[in-house]
Amino acid sequence: MSNEIIPELPDLLFDENSIPNSQQFADSYYSKSGGYEETYAVFLKACGLPDAWQGNDNFVIAELGFGTGLNFLCTWEMWNATRPETGTLHYVSFEQFPMQVEDSTKALEKWPLLAKLSKQLLNKWPKRLNGHQRIWFAEDRICLTLVIGDAAETLGQQDFKADAWYLDGFSPKNNPELWSEEVLKEVHRLSKPVVKIATYSVAKIVRDNLSAVGLDYKKCEGFGHKRERLEAWIEGEADAAHPKKPKSALIIGGGIAGCACAFALSRRDIDCTIIDNDENGAIKASNNLAGLIMPRLDRLNTNEAKFFRAAYLDALCVLGELEENFFKQTGVIEHPRSERDKEKFNQFKTNAPLPPEMLGFANDNLHHFDGGIVYPAKILATMGSKAIKIHAHIAKIETDDAGKSRALAHDGNVIATADICIIANGQGIGAFIDAQEYAVEGRAGVVSFAKANWPDNQVPIGGKSYCLPFDDGVLFGATFVPQKLEAPAKIELDSHDRNLELLREFSPNMAAEIESENVTGRASMRVVTKDRLPIAGAVPGKDGLYMLGALGSRGFSTASICAEVIASMACADPMPLERDLLALISPMRFDKHRAQSPQVESL
Ligand SMILES: Cc1cc2nc3c(=O)[nH]c(=O)nc-3n(C[C@H](O)[C@H](O)[C@H](O)COP(=O)(O)OP(=O)(O)OC[C@H]3O[C@@H](n4cnc5c(N)ncnc54)[C@H](O)[C@@H]3O)c2cc1C
Repeated sequence: MSNEIIPELPDLLFDENSIPNSQQFADSYYSKSGGYEETYAVFLKACGLPDAWQGNDNFVIAELGFGTGLNFLCTWEMWNATRPETGTLHYVSFEQFPMQVEDSTKALEKWPLLAKLSKQLLNKWPKRLNGHQRIWFAEDRICLTLVIGDAAETLGQQDFKADAWYLDGFSPKNNPELWSEEVLKEVHRLSKPVVKIATYSVAKIVRDNLSAVGLDYKKCEGFGHKRERLEAWIEGEADAAHPKKPKSALIIGGGIAGCACAFALSRRDIDCTIIDNDENGAIKASNNLAGLIMPRLDRLNTNEAKFFRAAYLDALCVLGELEENFFKQTGVIEHPRSERDKEKFNQFKTNAPLPPEMLGFANDNLHHFDGGIVYPAKILATMGSKAIKIHAHIAKIETDDAGKSRALAHDGNVIATADICIIANGQGIGAFIDAQEYAVEGRAGVVSFAKANWPDNQVPIGGKSYCLPFDDGVLFGATFVPQKLEAPAKIELDSHDRNLELLREFSPNMAAEIESENVTGRASMRVVTKDRLPIAGAVPGKDGLYMLGALGSRGFSTASICAEVIASMACADPMPLERDLLALISPMRFDKHRAQSPQVESL
């Protein structure tokens, strides 16, 4: 896989009819005879839509070449008019040169009928970064997964099965790589046994390569000035063994891990029950007054770095959907924690891990323009709002004779039953897995609060510790003390002094205002793994059992992508991350880990 972080921009020129043309590929983005009509004729109709998605709870369309987003919008328009009563439409699109939002806006202005949908898409337009970006339009039950990068490489990282494909790369004459036998082999691999594949091109190389990979095709009447187009298919039997989507889920733990799972599953119409033993929020790590959202950026573009970047993007997207006062995008200034960090920040000036619209430099510090302050209580309440809540302590999870998961109390009473179960119980994880085997450990933390004047225009600060404004004071901390996982976290005698000392480094004036006896605070436990990565995925050897834990110090940045991974696995949806990154956070990784532990760059 290429290690470029920021994709190249397309070399665009709009013609006199406002049709974008690619200078790189000497081709227009859509037919000059009418892009909208072309999409309906060449792709939607050719793929048997809308009939094909009737009775299919998880219809998957894949596309080579996202371009302006026009094919996606037309599909969305048709879906809204004809969609089945239940189910989600998954649209996975591969794009190497993503357009800037301004260019797409200009291109899409041509279709006022699509304006309502275009506006929604443009509001959530992907960031200029390689990798997966998942964008939900939950009200309409549409999930868009953009895979940015060279499809010849990124296709190999996928495992979804499509019902339909739109092959919409630039002309095979100028862009043969996207029509190669290798690419079409991947298209075949990523197709259901019954699939419809549509393209505007009838070029010989396309026909030859379709045949070479075992796809049947026929020429059909073309659109506009093109006489012909192609429809291809696999002559197969519908897969009767297609996994059934669960209808209900038990979630043990009502912190950010559990609530993010409820949010991701509810979007798929799965009934969730959250069982939590901490009715008043005294224990939860997820119950601080406020917290920071900022990315973890590593020196090298390793898979770990890719995971944390993807998690940050997803968190921004998900939190951005919530009410404005749940996540305030104030920006965050990140101070270096060490000399090594200083070098790293310096290196970012020439080799940036985020595009300039997301990352700036302020003296020796980083400025995360999209970062900000989260208000956990509001976020948990909203993300878990559709779930039934039960206050109970779960001692055991088992599978009943019908294959359902059930959660039992200490006395053996069944508290609840559902199709699947997710362990998301933070510090209590050791009740259900062998904590040593999974290499999970506890890190107690105290965050402090004191009344103080937060200077106007002061941006929240993160790094070795953090400080942010809250009500009429400042929240600062936090301590990071290795402790037995199952032991309750406590405020130690020196906790607030230690936090004050760190605050002094950031903001001596603010620290000078604070008397240590006026400081209050809260203690809770972070759960970390040796490799400082979360655990998210299916529990090995246990059908219907999943786990989301070890969110460490960044639970609010990493929970949403991990929850989306679990929900996608449970529903056999396309995944929101590439295969290598799924392996990185998988519960299965611990066998391998005992032999070889990856280098830990930062927390
Ligand atoms: C001091 C401190 C500051 C932090 N600051 C930030 C920050 O600024 N930004 C950020 O992103 N992250 C921050 N974090 C990290 C973040 O808070 C955690 O990663 C996250 O809250 C973990 O969420 P969780 O849902 O896994 O666990 P929890 O929030 O602990 O939730 C687990 C829940 O499961 C319940 N439970 C446990 N066992 C059982 C059982 N057997 N039956 C029923 N219920 C059970 C628990 O009581 C609890 O309510 C901070 C952490 C600490 C400690």
